[in-house]
Amino acid sequence: MIITRPRDWERIIANLDEVGATRVFIMGCGQCATVAKTGGEDEVREAAARLEAAGREVTGWAVGEVACHEGGTRLTTRKNAGSLETAEAILVLSCGAGVQTVADARPGTPVFPGLESAFLGNVVRHGVFEERCQMCGECVLDLTAGVCPVTTCPKGLLNGPCGGMWEGRCEVVTDRECTHVLIRRRLEAQGRGGGRGSLAPKDFSKKLKPGAVNLREGRAREGRARGGRDGGSGTTGGEDGR
Ligand code: SF4
Ligand code: SF4
Repeated sequence: MIITRPRDWERIIANLDEVGATRVFIMGCGQCATVAKTGGEDEVREAAARLEAAGREVTGWAVGEVACHEGGTRLTTRKNAGSLETAEAILVLSCGAGVQTVADARPGTPVFPGLESAFLGNVVRHGVFEERCQMCGECVLDLTAGVCPVTTCPKGLLNGPCGGMWEGRCEVVTDRECTHVLIRRRLEAQGRGGGRGSLAPKDFSKKLKPGAVNLREGRAREGRARGGRDGGSGTTGGEDGR
């Protein structure tokens, strides 16, 4: 899931001031931001109270099922059309993908992020999240016993350990075993410790941006985003024709 954290409140107020917005609609996300406790119903209500205390009128709020789901978000905006019409800005408590989805659904209204998108995180336990994958586009987990060196080694070393490792511990995140010690330990436990040479340098061109996959075309198409936002030409119809 996408891990988010609250955005600096002064910046949010400055965004609203910049467009002279006194009437604001708030959108949350029923998925990741709810689990991360940054953009669920409780946090949306809290933001509404803060805005009202700051002299703004909250015309309405909604927490859709998944903010980054374009069809679902369009449906949420349609259901709340009246409150959105009177809003001079929309504050979105979701990751950046959700903010853009709302901006696409309401292109005529200034849309501002209410959170910072931090990382793709594992839910370690309730309320505890850890980054395990940076979606590099060329996974090496088959060679590293299921431990990601790109992400879990703070230096991103593919072939560690670095000179700072001490007694098997990481020199940066000191309460944790060095990623490369863990990889070696697991490979040996699996009887795979002997043969593996050094990993080749990563080909970061595999991580093309913006990523796109279109299963409707019958094939995965990566590295090319569709066109057509805000009325431009595109292969899948644009924001009004998806
Ligand atoms: S190697 Fe790349 S794709 Fe695999 S877990 Fe690490 S960052 Fe993610
Ligand atoms: S001690 Fe290990 S995990 Fe920590 S930075 Fe060095 S190589 Fe990476």
